[in-house]
Amino acid sequence: MITDTQARLAIDGGAPVRDVNERPWPRWPVFDEMEEQALLRVLRSGVWWSAPGGEGKAFEEAFSRLHDARYGVTCANGTAALQAALRALGIGRGDEVIVPAYTFVATASAVLSVGALPVFADVDPDTLTLDPAAAEAAITPATAAIIPVHVAGRPADLDAFPALAARRKLALIEDAAQAHAASWRGKGVGSYGDLGAFSFQASKNLNSGEGGIVLTSRPDLADAVWTAVNIGRRRESADTGREVFGSNQRMTEFQAAILRAQMRRLPEQTARRTASANALRRRLGQIGGICLPADDPRVTCNAYHLFTFRYDPSAFGGRTLDALLAAMRAEGVPCSSGYIPIYRDALFQRQAAALRDTRDEARRYAALDLPVCEQLATDTIWLQQSVLLSEPEEMQDIAEAVARIQSAWSS
Ligand SMILES: *Cc1c(COP(=O)(O)O)cnc(C)c1O
Repeated sequence: MITDTQARLAIDGGAPVRDVNERPWPRWPVFDEMEEQALLRVLRSGVWWSAPGGEGKAFEEAFSRLHDARYGVTCANGTAALQAALRALGIGRGDEVIVPAYTFVATASAVLSVGALPVFADVDPDTLTLDPAAAEAAITPATAAIIPVHVAGRPADLDAFPALAARRKLALIEDAAQAHAASWRGKGVGSYGDLGAFSFQASKNLNSGEGGIVLTSRPDLADAVWTAVNIGRRRESADTGREVFGSNQRMTEFQAAILRAQMRRLPEQTARRTASANALRRRLGQIGGICLPADDPRVTCNAYHLFTFRYDPSAFGGRTLDALLAAMRAEGVPCSSGYIPIYRDALFQRQAAALRDTRDEARRYAALDLPVCEQLATDTIWLQQSVLLSEPEEMQDIAEAVARIQSAWSS
């Protein structure tokens, strides 16, 4: 019998690896006088607080340049960015759009919201991103576009997807909501597809509470995105007549000013997340039953919106993911499980059924069983980006917690 509290897991009454009251993890969001000054600058400017203003334009230029795209159009949030990208391409009723099932629901709900049908494809277990072969297999004559997601901040295969889209004459939209400053072969994400959509919602690596942007290098698409988020108006035109039916999805100058300040922090924060992620990889890689995402030299910058790893229950005494998460949290490690495949969401099934005025799609979604997505829902652990903003040495606590649990449960 174990009596020593040192040897007992925190969840069984032992002392935790990390006492988070004494040694809390970094707070998020990060801000100081720089953001305060930015907000006051807009407030006191005496000019229009909404777009199109100097802050918004300066941010669009800086953010598109950072990602090697020619144009950026800001908008209200990442969901609006995806909707605007789809609208700019003229995608709507009767069209199908291929999306991964392992992503935030907005990737697919944006497709539904413009009247098109999301078609789910499986992801690659080594990267968690859309599997190019699975995406190709999902193409039908109705397919209009593919939306790979740079999930967790890791670029999807940006060799395969542009090539596939070109070969099959499909549009390519990158969902880069989690991948600010990420790059593939040294070139920014969001610049490989026809369009790239980003979010600046509060949890994202670059945030203004809410916000979004669409990047593109095609002037016609940049104008069409602008129209989509400016209530159908034509850009650079004095007349206020409407081109298309649209919605107001503009960003305010306050958000743009905050984003410009936050962008100055981004290089250092990205470097720190990378250093912590590398430290975690080294340490977790030594623990039995832990599986890390594959290394790929083509990923020249991973934004690490999340640090993800998988566990093999057989190396952890057959314990469930929920049990492991509870034990990790008890040791002072903030963590969570990841996505449940979107097609399993009953609300989503009903919404898809309503779109088609038939229950067929709902039944089809309910019957879907993409094995990798299903597997990831049971064995994948997420650490939030803010945890990675601590000193890389502090990753030792996370690895030690996992090692302790593994050792206690495997014996
Ligand atoms: C956050 C997110 C979105 C939606 O962005 P919002 O700004 O919250 O609307 C879309 N796709 C992915 C992958 C996301 O993580």
